[in-house]
Amino acid sequence: MKFIYADSLDYIDPLYDFVADRSSATRRPYWDDLYAHEFLNPPPYHGVLVSRAIVGDGPVGGGKYTAARAQRFRREGARAFLRLDAPSFAAMPLFGDCGAFAYHNAEVPPYSPEDMLAFYEDAGFTHGCSVDHIIFEFDESHLVGLAGGSDEARRRFGITQENAEKFLQAARPLANRFTPLGVIQGWSPGSMAEAARRLCAMGYRYLAVGGTAPLKTPQIKACLRAIRDAIPPDVCLHVLGFAKADDIADFRPFDITTFDTTSPLLRAFKDAKSNYYVRRPDGRMDYYTAIRIPQAIENPKLQRLAKRGERRQEDLLRLERRALGALRAYDRDEVGLEETLDAVMDYDTPALLEDPGGIVSPKNVADLRLRYARTLRDRPWKECGCIVCQQASIEVVIFRASNRNKRRGMHNLAVFKSLVDDLEKLETAPTDDQADLFGRKGTPEPAEHRAVICG
Ligand SMILES: [Zn+2]
Repeated sequence: MKFIYADSLDYIDPLYDFVADRSSATRRPYWDDLYAHEFLNPPPYHGVLVSRAIVGDGPVGGGKYTAARAQRFRREGARAFLRLDAPSFAAMPLFGDCGAFAYHNAEVPPYSPEDMLAFYEDAGFTHGCSVDHIIFEFDESHLVGLAGGSDEARRRFGITQENAEKFLQAARPLANRFTPLGVIQGWSPGSMAEAARRLCAMGYRYLAVGGTAPLKTPQIKACLRAIRDAIPPDVCLHVLGFAKADDIADFRPFDITTFDTTSPLLRAFKDAKSNYYVRRPDGRMDYYTAIRIPQAIENPKLQRLAKRGERRQEDLLRLERRALGALRAYDRDEVGLEETLDAVMDYDTPALLEDPGGIVSPKNVADLRLRYARTLRDRPWKECGCIVCQQASIEVVIFRASNRNKRRGMHNLAVFKSLVDDLEKLETAPTDDQADLFGRKGTPEPAEHRAVICG
């Protein structure tokens, strides 16, 4: 099983000055920045996926790339653009997909199979998904066949299948350098299994399961079980946008070849509590809450308070400086835990916990303080050998602006990849001890075909 990272221009400034809180005046964005695979060694993923919706070229627009960057991506290729062109990255696959969520409201997908293939070919992708149309409804009661499903679900099922057939035809001339993936869309485990069966009958040897993002873990498992039962065992499976990545160990029975996710990076700054990943000696994942020190002059809540005259801007700036100073002093063992927590909470209480009427729930203050205390007491960044934690030290657990938050996300990617790597070791060399490591018993089935990425 391989972890493919879904990139959306996620890089950091390696020379960022945490104390002055700025990049150098001469920094050239993108050019002087580093992707996670450039910053961390080894790279914290096995391959990269780029959605066309993120590039934003073509009829959908609205991507994250500027027009000039989108052009350069196609002209110079994804590998050069992502700076994955060094010999050490040569074996890393580059997956492409349409990013079907970006056009989920459209009557039909905005790309033809031929147009999508031209995009993959121009950018030099090694693997590319057929043009799918998301089906939003899900009925887990239909485990077999095409029962259930609204007219709209069936229409989208038909579009996805028809596009897959054309895409496979168009991809034939590129067979020696490009692996097409047929995308599965369905409204039930049964319809997804039928979609998979038909894609295999067309000639696909690698399938991508779409539409799992809103599903719960048992629902995804029901789909994967139905799909696996419907296709030959040597057909490879990719899970698109796998949001339950942290539970990946539970998905081992479904023989997933690859999956893509952004989740470990995003949780660094989008999760309310679980922002910093660690693995316990028994292999289990565990999480710490990052310490939020928003920027006093940019935080909308603080700006409102200052504007209304309820807080003086200079007081907020002073509390912000004091909280940051206390955290750094704590990291150098110059200040105790309680004193540090006091300084942080003096700032965080107005910055995060006051409601518009200036009311603060004592329970919220106590909860946050407890979570922060656990992070600071355990000092997990001191235990981590990754370059992020080695260089940034306590800054990595401070929840504040992109350079800290994305660094923490990159650390999370590396921790998560270690989990996937251990699962893979388990597949190739199972022992009773290792099986116990992740709470599973028994000897896994041989998996020679997973040793290399299909294609
Ligand atoms: Zn680290």
